[in-house]
Amino acid sequence: MLDLYNRKINYLRISVTDRCNLRCRYCMPEDEVCMVKHSEILTYEEIQQVVAVAVPLGIDKIRLTGGEPLVRKDIVQLVRMIANVKGVKDIAITTNGILLEEFAIHLANAGLHRVNISLDTIDPEKFYQITRGGDIRKVFEGIEAASFAGLSPIKVNCVVKQSSDEPDALAVKQYCMENRLQVRFISQMDLSTGHFGIVDGGTGGDCSHCNRLRLTPTGKMKPCLFSDLEYDIREMGIQKAIEAAIFAKPEKGTVNLSNCFHNIGG
Ligand code: SAM
Ligand code: SF4
Repeated sequence: MLDLYNRKINYLRISVTDRCNLRCRYCMPEDEVCMVKHSEILTYEEIQQVVAVAVPLGIDKIRLTGGEPLVRKDIVQLVRMIANVKGVKDIAITTNGILLEEFAIHLANAGLHRVNISLDTIDPEKFYQITRGGDIRKVFEGIEAASFAGLSPIKVNCVVKQSSDEPDALAVKQYCMENRLQVRFISQMDLSTGHFGIVDGGTGGDCSHCNRLRLTPTGKMKPCLFSDLEYDIREMGIQKAIEAAIFAKPEKGTVNLSNCFHNIGG
């Protein structure tokens, strides 16, 4: 479907959980994150139904994100269910990579095409600091497993403070070149102040070419990351919520006071 600004909306990003096994400083508070109740989170059947309704409306590209998508129980089953929806051309996951070694081959066998892995530094100590406790070796093992499983391309998401010339960003770039990974630099954003920029090496952040809708873990269809607009699929019905979101998609993002990165998925 085209929106009011002639943008073709074909990409749905689904946040499957607001839970995470890391606590990145720019994304989550350290403790007592207010989590949504399990009973409010969309079931896999509901998510598959959303995809089935979205495809005839023009969606052909799906990304699973979170929170950390790999911590949700039976995530491989969800990938399989989405892959079984006719008309889905591309299924990707954005993950912190910690559990990827265990899951990569099963995800690939279930129909996952691609993976984006978040990595802001290759220094184990800094990684531990940024993620408040993460073990970078797990991420490296996850990247290897993804490559072995044939997931391609493998992209690395690197959050930078100012620019992609920072020492950590340059080291990540070098690591990616050596390991045949694509790297995208994302400037650190703030949803509540509307501070965002164009993703260097990717497609995010450029409002005039934005082709995305987002689904939150509790079933709110959002036309824009930087907006409070949302349409509840359980209240409105899936098709009406998708159509309303596309119709209301703002020309440009402003601020989002109702979500955080760890529930909407970045
Ligand atoms: N847990 C998974 C991960 O880290 O890849 C998926 C969810 S995470 C919210 C998705 C992406 O959002 C990650 O690449 C992460 O680096 C990015 N992100 C989180 N907080 C951010 C912020 N304040 N500014 C820019 N990107 C952010
Ligand atoms: Fe978790 Fe991803 Fe947020 Fe880090 S960026 S806290 S891994 S959801």
